[in-house]
Amino acid sequence: MNQTGLNQGTSGNISAIHENTMLITPSGVPYDDMQPDQIARMSLVAGDDSWEGPLRPSSEWHFHKSILMSNPFFGAVVHTHSTFATILSIARKPIPSCHYMVAAFGGNNVRCAGYATFGTEELSQQILKAMEGRSACLMANHGMVVAGSNLEKAMWAAVELETLAKQYYHACQQDSIVLLPDSEMEIIVEKFKTYGLKFSEKS
Ligand code: 13P
Ligand code: ZN
Repeated sequence: MNQTGLNQGTSGNISAIHENTMLITPSGVPYDDMQPDQIARMSLVAGDDSWEGPLRPSSEWHFHKSILMSNPFFGAVVHTHSTFATILSIARKPIPSCHYMVAAFGGNNVRCAGYATFGTEELSQQILKAMEGRSACLMANHGMVVAGSNLEKAMWAAVELETLAKQYYHACQQDSIVLLPDSEMEIIVEKFKTYGLKFSEKS
């Protein structure tokens, strides 16, 4: 996360499914200092909020858990406060069909979830709503979250989404922009099902 420039300090968090449980980064630990044995483990059973680990799990375990439970293809979740995604989230601007890569997130836009305090169940509900039919969303006045079938794909998706946010931000400075039509985005969504690092494939 730090090496890609997506993050700094203790902002952001990562989770992955392992042996039917959720492994998640500990809360408030700078990534540079984080050690593998500090990763927390939580149940993936609804209503069971118990956890194991030397340190508390990320304060954002609510949305990590609900995202992982929402779609059998999701195996990992990455949340960052990356700069351009956060700028758009402050402007409460979803990313429209400004580039064909938007379709890699499942449709013709990447929505911006409504605001809720960090670490709350309400934030989790806002995110689930914004991610309906999508594998990512922006989070109002906060950042972004992406899901993938495994950690590698989720990290790749996080870098892609920040790139799109940056491109869209700069495109908005032009006199006018052209969006791709929904019919074209539908074609691209289908093409992505068989292209490269497939988002929707469990591996
Ligand atoms: P944690 O350190 O608890 O994971 O929180 C960081 C964060 O980004 C909260 O939204
Ligand atoms: Zn955050």
